[in-house]
Amino acid sequence: MVVPVIEIIPSKSIRSDAEREAMLADPGFGRYFTDHMVTIKWSEKRGWHEGQLVPYGPLSMDPANMTLHYAHEIFEGMKAYRHPDGEVATFRPEENAERFRRSARRLAMPELPVEAFIKACDVLVDQDELWVPAHGGEEALYLRPFMIATEVGLGVRPADEYLFLVIASPVGALSTDVNKPMTIWLSEDHVRAVPGGIGDAKTGGNYAASLLAQVEATTRGCDQVCYLDAVERRWVEELGGMNLYFVYGDKIVTPPLTGSLLPGITRDSILTVARDLGYVAEESRVSVDQWQADAENGTLTEVFACGTAAVLTPVGTVKRTGATWRQSGGQPGKVTLKLREALLNIQQGLVEDKHGWMHMVA
Ligand SMILES: *Cc1c(COP(=O)(O)O)cnc(C)c1O
Repeated sequence: MVVPVIEIIPSKSIRSDAEREAMLADPGFGRYFTDHMVTIKWSEKRGWHEGQLVPYGPLSMDPANMTLHYAHEIFEGMKAYRHPDGEVATFRPEENAERFRRSARRLAMPELPVEAFIKACDVLVDQDELWVPAHGGEEALYLRPFMIATEVGLGVRPADEYLFLVIASPVGALSTDVNKPMTIWLSEDHVRAVPGGIGDAKTGGNYAASLLAQVEATTRGCDQVCYLDAVERRWVEELGGMNLYFVYGDKIVTPPLTGSLLPGITRDSILTVARDLGYVAEESRVSVDQWQADAENGTLTEVFACGTAAVLTPVGTVKRTGATWRQSGGQPGKVTLKLREALLNIQQGLVEDKHGWMHMVA
């Protein structure tokens, strides 16, 4: 497959240093976007073509665009970190690129070559490098690669034209507040994904399916929803946008990739980091009754959620119909904190990158 060239068309009206610095001082999550974006077109006739870095701005779209009607969309999420020497690096971008290809295949969309995906991210980070927060905190530049159909029409079938884009948004430590353990609502009525469905593809449809349960969780004073398997409604799968880990003393356990949960890159990296630190790390099923019983009898010492946006976040309290329980006294546990620090140290360039996970950009 031909990797398209990315033509650079810089913005003539980038934000001033003062404007940018004001945004970087309190970035929140996904609130502000950098000065540029990357676009690459695909058509049945021409394949991938017309790669461009252009000023960030609105897309013009026909109301009958297929994406708007049938959710023909996939996305990715990754971060660029500023290292102590001032260099900027992304974390395992080839994993995001490969997952993007798998999501595309599942949604019958064209597969972007791995090199084109990484190049598009690199070009944007390089151009908007001043938006990568200074080294020292947990701030980073969040990258959002995504693909939409651009064909116009209401027929239900794969489109003959698509657009791949990358946008970037500075994100703060707020999205990763480790001192505020989450309260989780265990949804026994709604499921997120089903066997044979699209639960293991990173696509907007899964998020749309999760919103009603999320609203119910919020009403009950919970931060996030935990979903169970769709068939037996018994096996713990994941949260709406984060994978889960259970800590039993020196052993950590995460649900296996059955096809209905998203194969998180953070999840995968934690298996390795935990083994490096001498923990036993396992992929095996945990039932919701087991979770409750083990938390109540104290063998389950900690639970945490993980993903690119929030890194590792402790789960303090769990609520299900008729029961509420806590683990690690509702506080951040020590294994959670240790794994979190170990992973962040690699991402922030503070320790040797012995697995070759960091990709230097600028
Ligand atoms: C993106 C995502 C995750 C986390 O994946 P990472 O690669 O670790 O960021 C977990 N669950 C869902 C549903 C997701 O969309």
